[in-house]
Amino acid sequence: MEVTKVINATRTFKIGEVETKALRGVDLTIESGEFTALVGPSGSGKTTLLQLIGLLDQPTSGSVFINGKDATRLNRDQRADLRKGTIGFIFQFFALIPTLTAYENVELPLLLNGMKPAERKARVNEMLEAVGLSDRAHHRPDQLSGGQQQRVAVARALSIRPSMILADEPTANLDTENGKQVMEIMQKLNKETGVTFVFATHDPRVIKYANRVVTLRDGMIVENGNSAKA
Ligand code: ADP
Ligand code: MG
Repeated sequence: MEVTKVINATRTFKIGEVETKALRGVDLTIESGEFTALVGPSGSGKTTLLQLIGLLDQPTSGSVFINGKDATRLNRDQRADLRKGTIGFIFQFFALIPTLTAYENVELPLLLNGMKPAERKARVNEMLEAVGLSDRAHHRPDQLSGGQQQRVAVARALSIRPSMILADEPTANLDTENGKQVMEIMQKLNKETGVTFVFATHDPRVIKYANRVVTLRDGMIVENGNSAKA
């Protein structure tokens, strides 16, 4: 069972003489299969915390344990290796490659992981089907709606069969209907595959999908939801 444990993590950014304490001692346990929202006002530290959980960034002090392994003791390459097979990302602005089709965008992480062509093709088609976009496989991002683009991003994040998906404000640039579709797909995939989802949001329409709500304020967790056993 996958468990991520953030222990007494701080993250301070320094630009010139100005120090910003983005996180001030955060403890958080994420268990396998959670569907958890990180909420809090803009600037409260949601993105910073997601980046620590996703091993894209390192805490200034404190630790991040993945399955009992202290990721803060790994070097950059070792962290990238740990991340590559286990964690998928979804971003606010979709972050698709504009010159590639939906199919090719979903295929890219599989190419990078060296998956064989026949298996790759089957996997890409399965993922596009899972997000309801089989009929848009050969469209480029600019030929898709925002909601469709984000569904491609969901398919891309899931293609490597990660154990955890981290989504930063996944619906912030979508209208209500498209936001709902994206959340419903993420919820369905969470139930069907057991993949852990952690998403940052301040949209009440999105928060209501969460099984657990973790609230941040000024770089600290002020409410820790219910699911953590720690
Ligand atoms: P949220 O995602 O909740 O809006 P962030 O985690 O992005 O909050 O930011 C928390 C605080 O850290 C903010 O005050 C922000 O300005 C600051 N911050 C975030 N990233 C950086 C950075 N790379 N350099 C300097 N300050 C940063
Ligand atoms: Mg943010």
